[in-house]
Amino acid sequence: MDYDAIVIGAGMSGLAAAIRIAMSGLSVCVLERHNVPGGLNSYYTQEGRAFDVGLHALTNFVPARTLGAPLTKVLRQLRIRHEELRLGEHEFSEIVFPGERLTFTNEFEHFEGEIERVFPHQRDAFAALVNRVRTFELREDGVEDQSARAVVGEILSDPLLIEMILCPILYYGSAREDDVAWSQFVVLFRSIFLEGLSRPEGGVRRIVNLLIKRLKAAGGELRYGSGVRRIRIENGRAQLLELDDGEVLRSGTIFSSAGRTESLRLAGREVPPEEIGRLTFLESISMMKDAPASFGHGAATSFFCTEERIAYRIPQRLIDVRSGVISAPNNFRSKKPLKEGCMRLTVLANYEAWHKLSKEEYVQAKIECAEQAIAKVAACFFDWRPHTVYRDVFTPCTIRRFTGHVGGAVYGSPKKSLTGESGIPGLVLCGTDQGYLGIVGAMFSGVAMANRHLIAPHQKTATSPRSA
Ligand SMILES: Cc1cc2nc3c(=O)[nH]c(=O)nc-3n(C[C@H](O)[C@H](O)[C@H](O)COP(=O)(O)OP(=O)(O)OC[C@H]3O[C@@H](n4cnc5c(N)ncnc54)[C@H](O)[C@@H]3O)c2cc1C
Repeated sequence: MDYDAIVIGAGMSGLAAAIRIAMSGLSVCVLERHNVPGGLNSYYTQEGRAFDVGLHALTNFVPARTLGAPLTKVLRQLRIRHEELRLGEHEFSEIVFPGERLTFTNEFEHFEGEIERVFPHQRDAFAALVNRVRTFELREDGVEDQSARAVVGEILSDPLLIEMILCPILYYGSAREDDVAWSQFVVLFRSIFLEGLSRPEGGVRRIVNLLIKRLKAAGGELRYGSGVRRIRIENGRAQLLELDDGEVLRSGTIFSSAGRTESLRLAGREVPPEEIGRLTFLESISMMKDAPASFGHGAATSFFCTEERIAYRIPQRLIDVRSGVISAPNNFRSKKPLKEGCMRLTVLANYEAWHKLSKEEYVQAKIECAEQAIAKVAACFFDWRPHTVYRDVFTPCTIRRFTGHVGGAVYGSPKKSLTGESGIPGLVLCGTDQGYLGIVGAMFSGVAMANRHLIAPHQKTATSPRSA
């Protein structure tokens, strides 16, 4: 055998899984098709400017040493000190719908006060929802996976409040149109509202660099430019990986962060259309001479909808500008302020429509769609175009190209596998399609799957009387 484990993908989950495996003394190699780590949360440089791909905010923020929190657990498992992330909290973020605005901070009491101010008749119902979220226990069999819309709709009665609460949850993690599984709602509600939002100083590079450093220190191997084109099954178990250049590697266990659909296809399996994720986005990143505070914008993250009900679904056309997320990295506290102002705007997009365009049409559509989305925000809220000195845009095709996710799907398949089982012995899923979301969720998933499927069974065998 070449390795005890091979991990497909050097995103957050793949790197975290590999660190745990290497730290436990087993041999591990991470195979990454691209030449840069990070996956959906990567980075690049253009015209001397450093850009993050995915990072708006690190959800799940808790202060150092907060017991039982996912961030504390994952950092402890990876031997990363909280201080090393240099997290700056948001001053506040907001949810903006026609005629109403709710702000929230990392103090949950602030949000409770906002609900009481804007929706006084919903105070007790909201408390009941929070209690349901706090006491919910995640079950691996997925039995509880009812519609969050249905559960929330039974507890809250104000349709606008329901939409305003669903908006950030859908945008930060739902792979389903117009809804999200109740278990995912709970995970996201805790990570955004009960825990909170922050940003690492220097952006996503800080997290990725820390992970790479830990992996190397623990003796793990990382190979860039090493795409896996096929997973071969031998004796009923996935154990051979065929790379793009024809090289074949053998592994005791294969961990794949490529996504459920993508991993099953690598192993030659069909995936029913309803299990393939399709929700994807267009994002523009506008760089400005001054920070957004200079033109009166103080929110770190703004979840907005210009209609009373959110249409969180694949648009008929290239994009849908009626709702989205505005991220202002300057509005996170930091000891080292960013050199320039930055505004990111994310709206829903249709991969198929983008994919059909000719090269010339695509280039033109990128410019026009970014402009259309920013103009919509300008008409409804505020305008950062006069301050903009540079803009970059990425589309569903960019996401597809750089992460391999079918259809540029950001939140993977609507069918999650909380146990990590893929249905093929020897092939374990980690990352978004295992069911934990975002950066912290992805790292948590990598750690949990490595512990469960390799390290714990290995330790059990090593200490059993028979092996002594
Ligand atoms: C626009 C955008 C904004 C986001 N904003 C936030 C945010 O603010 N906060 C937050 O917490 N999360 C955010 N996310 C989500 C977050 O980025 C993801 O949840 C997380 O990074 C997923 O990590 P992963 O390891 O599961 O998968 P990925 O990051 O997708 O990693 C998979 C890796 O596998 C590689 N790979 C795939 N196929 C192969 C193959 N066959 N061979 C070799 N390598 C392969 C890919 O190249 C990739 O590097 C955002 C995502 C996007 C796109």
